[in-house]
Amino acid sequence: MAITEETSRPAGACADAVGAALCPQPDLGEHRPRKVRATRFPDTVEEVRRQVLVARAEGTPLYPLSTGRNWGMGSRSPVVGDCTVLDLSRMDAIRTLDLDEGYAVVEPGVTQRQLSELLEGTPWMLNVTAGCADAGVVGNTLERGDGTIRARAEDLLGLEVVLGTGEILTTGGLDRHGRRSGTVAGPDLTRTFVQSNLGVVTAMAVSLIPRPEAITLIHATFARDALGAAADAMVRISRSRVPAHGMLRLKDLFVIPDEGSAAVPENADPNTITIQVPLLGTRAAVQDAERGIRDVFRQFAKPIEIRALDTATTSEDDPLYARTRFASGTPTCEALRAGLRVDTCAQADAAPVGWLMFLPVVPLHPVSLVTAVELMAIESERHGTAGMLEFNVISQHSTNMVTQIPFLREPDSIERAHVLRATARDSFLRAGFPPYRSNIDQQPWEITDRSADFQDGPLRGLKRLWDPDGIIAPGRYLAGS
Ligand SMILES: Cc1cc2nc3c(=O)[nH]c(=O)nc-3n(C[C@H](O)[C@H](O)[C@H](O)COP(=O)(O)OP(=O)(O)OC[C@H]3O[C@@H](n4cnc5c(N)ncnc54)[C@H](O)[C@@H]3O)c2cc1C
Repeated sequence: MAITEETSRPAGACADAVGAALCPQPDLGEHRPRKVRATRFPDTVEEVRRQVLVARAEGTPLYPLSTGRNWGMGSRSPVVGDCTVLDLSRMDAIRTLDLDEGYAVVEPGVTQRQLSELLEGTPWMLNVTAGCADAGVVGNTLERGDGTIRARAEDLLGLEVVLGTGEILTTGGLDRHGRRSGTVAGPDLTRTFVQSNLGVVTAMAVSLIPRPEAITLIHATFARDALGAAADAMVRISRSRVPAHGMLRLKDLFVIPDEGSAAVPENADPNTITIQVPLLGTRAAVQDAERGIRDVFRQFAKPIEIRALDTATTSEDDPLYARTRFASGTPTCEALRAGLRVDTCAQADAAPVGWLMFLPVVPLHPVSLVTAVELMAIESERHGTAGMLEFNVISQHSTNMVTQIPFLREPDSIERAHVLRATARDSFLRAGFPPYRSNIDQQPWEITDRSADFQDGPLRGLKRLWDPDGIIAPGRYLAGS
């Protein structure tokens, strides 16, 4: 048996105030503190199952974490207090690596670094995020995170899940021996466990990406006041591009109020914006796609500069080096270190700057993109807090907007950043841009607020069936659970 208990590592003098066992977790986002009973570290599926059965018997809720780096949305904190945190980081086996078919079956503690290093020199690469090399694959995918090549949800093939009853379920054609022969007949429950609290995921089958002959990162810079034309060019490219290309993004877009810019990274340039897309394929196909994109830019948006970086030869001194690493499936922590002003990912929750995320879905249409920027600029000015915006084109229809809200960790700045996120949520809901991903303070309302006539009764029925005592992550995305 490999369970250890440890009291939460408190920030400040919490242990004296409320007793070590009920201390809140350190949190980069400075959300309302939740008290945590204990942290447990199971390292096998059987131990997870036993923890679930104990929690049922005792009526103590569990909050599962994979690597616990949910920065900007709650870090390691549960949605409601008095939970026992089930930290799955010691379940770090890569159960299967199938280099013929291009998939891996990973446990929750497997990090991007671990899997990508194993893929070096193989015909496959990993779709990595721009977060931290030491963040995992499972938690990020269950949150609908975005990788550099595509939305992480597109990597998700199947799951092994311990339900709140203690039963073990596999989905998506994954069998109990860690093999997957494809999506088998019958309803596929895989997506039911994404952004939900219906079970504890103990393994995930992840689709890998064929490593192409060439990868070029297109990075085009435009004047900030050419936003409308740049958005129009991006929509045109998205509708003409070859689907095998990586994620198209409008990014490096800042809304900076007259006062309140102190936490913004030093290299931020409020006068420019960027469109970025990795092109993957044969060298000839990549060159052809690059020509097509350059034509669209020249015709519709007049960039200040277009760079096309061969990811195999980009120099380490290049300011875009980290981005070329991400595009070729190698995670780094550079972006995180620069943004949070820390040396290692382990220091993130105690970084000198705090960080919140606001993540609405915005239609892939120039008018909608410009409207979303304007809405955020209004809220930013109103609350004297800057925002760093990015639009990730996840389909032919919509973008995942990522609003990063850095703030100084002193009471007035923390308060303004949180009010900004709350009022932005209201104004984006009114505009028809609901959140696609949330944080521990607002998660219990996301589903009901997204539509006045949304029926969550059937979802509650599933919760009663699979987690009759409501012990798994209460409040996480399912209202009333
Ligand atoms: C500077 C910066 C850059 C970032 N860049 C990116 C980026 O490029 N893309 C991106 O998507 N995010 C990004 N993030 C946000 C965040 O840090 C990542 O999404 C991170 O990967 C999430 O942490 P994790 O993978 O450790 O998940 P965890 O914290 O382990 O889990 C995330 C959520 O999923 C639930 N969960 C986790 N594991 C399980 C399980 N086994 N069973 C059931 N439920 C589970 C948890 O309860 C939690 O609510 C960034 C953040 C910062 C500050």
